[in-house]
Amino acid sequence: MANSETSMRLDHIGLAVKSIDQARKFYEGGLGFGSEPHIEEVAGEKVRVLKVIVPPGVHIELLEPTAPDSPIARFLEKHGEGQHHLSFAVDDLAAATQRMKEKGYTPLWDQPHVGAGGCLVNFFHPRQAHGVLTELSQAPK
Ligand code: ZN
Repeated sequence: MANSETSMRLDHIGLAVKSIDQARKFYEGGLGFGSEPHIEEVAGEKVRVLKVIVPPGVHIELLEPTAPDSPIARFLEKHGEGQHHLSFAVDDLAAATQRMKEKGYTPLWDQPHVGAGGCLVNFFHPRQAHGVLTELSQAPK
């Protein structure tokens, strides 16, 4: 499944939801997946995050805004609930971002932010990625 040149692999699909408590009923009760035991709050992005575990090695990230000016709140206003981003895991975010820049793609931020689970993350805007907000994520060492 990994890209052999960069070892990039699909990590998760981020979904914007109004309420994690409501949405988890579909993924856990309906589809029967398990989730991480705790909902994490990522203060910098003003979201709460629940990781739903999807075997063999991907997860779904349910993203619920914690403030009206959260990027997820603005997304929900504009688009309603649904797919927010795709995330690819990389071993070295700085190198992967640099490689993308050399190919003409500009990340959202000059410097990566710390996301859920302490991962370093950066994004590429949907207009560069055929309509899909695309995240690159490096797990904490
Ligand atoms: Zn994500």
